[in-house]
Amino acid sequence: MDKKVNSYHIAQSQIKTAVEQLGLPMDVYEWLKSPDRVVEAALSIRKDDGSIKTFTGYRSQHNNVLGPYKGGIRFHPDVDADEAKALSIWMTFKCAVVRVPYGGGKGAVDCNPRELSQGELERISRQYINSMALILGPERDIPAPDVNTNAQTMAWMADEYCKIQQHNEFGVITGKPIDVGGCVGRETATSRGVFHAIKESARAIDLPLEGAKVAIQGYGNVGYYAARFLTDLGCRVIGVTDSSGGAYDEKGLEPDELAQHKKETGSVKGYANSSPIDTVKELYSLDCDILVPAALENQVDAEVARGVKAKIMVEGANGPTTPDGDDVLKEKNVLVVPDILANSGGVIVSYFEWVQNNYSYYWKEEEIESCLEDKVCDAFHAVYNYCQHHKQNVSMREAAFMYALERLASVMKIRGWWG
Ligand code: NAD
Repeated sequence: MDKKVNSYHIAQSQIKTAVEQLGLPMDVYEWLKSPDRVVEAALSIRKDDGSIKTFTGYRSQHNNVLGPYKGGIRFHPDVDADEAKALSIWMTFKCAVVRVPYGGGKGAVDCNPRELSQGELERISRQYINSMALILGPERDIPAPDVNTNAQTMAWMADEYCKIQQHNEFGVITGKPIDVGGCVGRETATSRGVFHAIKESARAIDLPLEGAKVAIQGYGNVGYYAARFLTDLGCRVIGVTDSSGGAYDEKGLEPDELAQHKKETGSVKGYANSSPIDTVKELYSLDCDILVPAALENQVDAEVARGVKAKIMVEGANGPTTPDGDDVLKEKNVLVVPDILANSGGVIVSYFEWVQNNYSYYWKEEEIESCLEDKVCDAFHAVYNYCQHHKQNVSMREAAFMYALERLASVMKIRGWWG
């Protein structure tokens, strides 16, 4: 990730632009420009060798006018408070775009999971909850998985919270394993949402998906399942990268075999009969129809964007495109489905999980998948129509921010926060 680009400043300027484009007073920007609360905690744990090591944990709670704060927890050595703040802002807008009754939050811990044992990861997860328990809760703030965290991490965290409360409150965290109140379809939810956004985008520009060529950056939860769903639909995934390298095959990479290769070797690079992809620029300039960023922030800057040949880019990752990258893609008429819409599948199914936890009544997978599809497609068309019919030449990202802000500002006004 390019640390020179500050994601928090980008998120703030996106809000400001939307406020100006909608002709709202700056009072609305004043409310939304900074998180309501940011907690930083020293997480000291005993390592397997007996020594004590301290990590820094963050929780940013941006805005809760629409409902409890909601957002994942990321484990990554490069995270800082500004990254958590930016991601929490995007969660507020994401929940508003897809009409789920949540605000925005985000958590992070500055650790490198590759250098930690399962036991050490469990102790960090539990310590995070111990430090944050006072500000979390099913009606206050509901974490979920993000980069380098998964259902097991959520199980440890939910268990720690329930122990502190002295009773089970599984609705405090989503993305849990099925046996502890998880929701069928949560693991694949973000990619399923990405897949629906790709289907609707392709329909909008008359791009046939059968045989369409796809390139994906990142091969974790979001990247892998996106590759799986798109291949099942008849697309050809020709290029994939992860943090250690990449693989290219014009004939198409087989998603499960590629995942197995990554599991065995630690990376997608070196996959059977593939050629290497060494740089971000190389991946994004592949001769393909669809791009799926599914790694981290600030990958597509102006230079990378200039090489893009694809007609559609659907942002599985949060914040993958810088503002100057956005400008270039807009000039090139690439249909960019922004993160706050494209990767909303995760928070939508998290919402279904929370509702089920609160009622202790569980739905079938078909119901979850069909409700998810409805929500993503409804939001896509609302934003696409907004973009098509707006008097200014607005991008899908600007349209998504404006559409979300209309709702946020309206509820804030009714509640007496401004006006
Ligand atoms: P993950 O940890 O499962 O996978 C991340 C992948 O990105 C890994 O394959 C890693 O090797 C790769 N990566 C990291 N740095 C890279 C780089 N510089 N170049 C290429 N690849 C790189 O994480 P995930 O859950 O798949 O999340 C990916 C993105 O999607 C993040 O931006 C996350 O915030 C976003 N997201 C995830 C969810 C979810 O439900 N998991 C929901 C919404 C958004």
